[in-house]
Amino acid sequence: MASAVYAGSFDPITNGHVAIIQAGLVAFDRIVVAVLTNASKSPLFTVDERIEMIADAIADDPRVEVDRFDRGLLVDYARSKGISVILRGLRAVGDFEYELQMANMNRRLALGITTVFVPANDYFFVSSTLVKEAASLGGDVKGVVPELVERKLREKYGR
Ligand code: ADP
Repeated sequence: MASAVYAGSFDPITNGHVAIIQAGLVAFDRIVVAVLTNASKSPLFTVDERIEMIADAIADDPRVEVDRFDRGLLVDYARSKGISVILRGLRAVGDFEYELQMANMNRRLALGITTVFVPANDYFFVSSTLVKEAASLGGDVKGVVPELVERKLREKYGR
């Protein structure tokens, strides 16, 4: 069974992330979505809230597992799950340099592990940061995030 791990902060999950998971499922039988819990940035949503929103967005697809990734190297996490592919989305030229560096560093850290990129599509302009900024200022983020996320953003920002 071909599996991949898709890691990120998902603070919150956007339709861009969902599109990457869906595209990933064309190539892989199983995707483990790993929520980074120790990112340096102070998150808007708790890990449990982020996991709940991801689970809701993928609507209990049995091919997708949602997990948390607390510490250490992503390659070690992947190995612990018996997975040798890291799935990443590529949005724009801006993503490219960093993603190429990271993919090569990860390959060095663990020779048996490779990174597979999926091109961003309709949601190439969407990032969690931009979504939060727009929502915090009262912007309507309908259509760029799943419905539950839209609701939770309204609650967080008291609108
Ligand atoms: P982090 O917060 O750790 O940077 P993100 O949640 O931003 O992680 O992103 C995780 C992965 O999802 C990255 O590979 C990123 O390029 C990809 N991604 C994020 N948003 C989009 C989008 N709108 N379209 C395609 N890929 C995306």
